[in-house]
Amino acid sequence: MANQEDNLFKNVISHAKEYGFIFPSSEIYDGLSAVYDYGQNGVELKNNIKEYWWKFMTLLHENIVGIDAAIFMHPTTWKASGHVDAFNDPMIDNKDSKKRYRADQLIEGVIEKLEEKIEKEVEKAAKRFENFDRTMFLTTNARVVEYQKKIDEINERMKGALGRGDMADLKQLIVDLEIADPISGTKNWTEVRQFNLMFSTEMGSVADDANKIYLRPETAQGIFVNFLNVQKTGRMKIPFGIAQIGKAFRNEIVARQFIFRMREFEQMEMQFFVKPGEEMQWYEFWKAKRLKWHQTLGLGTENYRYHDHLNLAHYANAACDIQFNFPMGFRELEGIHSRTDFDLKSHEKFSGKKLQYFDSEDNQNFVPYVVETSVGLDRMFLSVLASAYKEEKLEDGSDRVVLKIPAPLAPNKVAILPLMKKDGLPEKAMEIMNLLKFDFRCFYEEKDAIGKRYRRQDALGTPYCVTVDHQTLQDNTVTIRDRDTMKQQRVAMDAVRSIIQESVSMAELLKKI
Ligand code: ATP
Repeated sequence: MANQEDNLFKNVISHAKEYGFIFPSSEIYDGLSAVYDYGQNGVELKNNIKEYWWKFMTLLHENIVGIDAAIFMHPTTWKASGHVDAFNDPMIDNKDSKKRYRADQLIEGVIEKLEEKIEKEVEKAAKRFENFDRTMFLTTNARVVEYQKKIDEINERMKGALGRGDMADLKQLIVDLEIADPISGTKNWTEVRQFNLMFSTEMGSVADDANKIYLRPETAQGIFVNFLNVQKTGRMKIPFGIAQIGKAFRNEIVARQFIFRMREFEQMEMQFFVKPGEEMQWYEFWKAKRLKWHQTLGLGTENYRYHDHLNLAHYANAACDIQFNFPMGFRELEGIHSRTDFDLKSHEKFSGKKLQYFDSEDNQNFVPYVVETSVGLDRMFLSVLASAYKEEKLEDGSDRVVLKIPAPLAPNKVAILPLMKKDGLPEKAMEIMNLLKFDFRCFYEEKDAIGKRYRRQDALGTPYCVTVDHQTLQDNTVTIRDRDTMKQQRVAMDAVRSIIQESVSMAELLKKI
């Protein structure tokens, strides 16, 4: 990460703490690694992101319903899903720095560097030639072809080693690629070991193996095991989807980068059940829909890109990520996977119960195929927070820090500020608050100079400030200040609702998707 971006990220993190968005967990005991708490403003922003997702799924699609499954599930669930045997990450330690890494991520780092080299060549050539043909260039330029060949070779070897569970070969690949630890700079590596990411605990009072249960590492399985319950009781017809928002837990090997990679986090997942053979068309459908959902927030379309998976998970026949341009670069924000009938079939096998759909048109039973969309709520939060955070230099030479959070997601929509704490201004301000509080989350503040209060609301991302002054007492007008433009206008007290309504409305945002 370049220094400037590094600093910006640090500033975002300290801003999040200073303004009650995110605190390190159990901070008075020096925190718990990769676990965070959401503060009074963070929880509002998080809830608004949830609402944006939940309403998109369940209001805008009449064939999608939601559930809320338990975190604890029968332990066989995780046998069937493959997590007990295969939810492993290969880890490796550098003996000098004593730092731990994911072996596959070290190797992917080499691939990323080669990809960057290709992009540089493309950029150079695009500047030189007028009718530049990217596809042609990628297949004919000798240097680029050589880089690509190297990428394919590395990928092939990594995929093979991971597929066979051959950790010695993975280590050899790290040695052959001459990968050095970014901290110590040495190539003094341990062997690569597999590490299962699931947290386990015991249920009941007898701590033997039979009672071992897991904290779910993904919410999806709660949907699969309820597939027939929902289909039958909801009389759902294929294609249909089940959505869920909930906690997931992973004992991540490398858990850095703030809330990007946590050990306890939240997922927003939707499993869409389709007829076998139709999964690819639905996969493309959801890929496009989900990108549109993200882009509609207005954080900049250039900040999103697809990343197709070359190494498919054991259950998938197609998969891609939607990546976001986080402060540390483009990283996965959401995964879209065509999961075939792997999960339902596997649960049929392990439970001995049929998990099939009866198609009355064809008079046939079948196990549906599934297309999954899975986005991390905390990563969504980070994408919103990091791109909303702006350090601005104003015309008068002063600085301001403002969170330009999309208005419908902002923790508070409007701050009501009596200019002074006397002359009946607070009472008048309360009157306005009582007018607005049923429609919008309002914030009331009467302490400090008005300029200071504006700055504080900017830092919290409040889209509007309504100021009550002596003129208000005479003619029932107030000033309303816009967070982004800082422009103020004098309007009738009764007009405030209609002025802010459209821009802060979740419904209006949803209509744009
Ligand atoms: P990664 O490759 O970054 O570990 P993943 O491919 O394992 O992620 P999925 O299993 O596809 O992730 O989970 C779906 C989504 O859940 C991810 O796109 C991400 O937004 C979120 N997610 C996964 N792991 C974490 C984590 N440790 N902390 C926060 N969010 C996470």
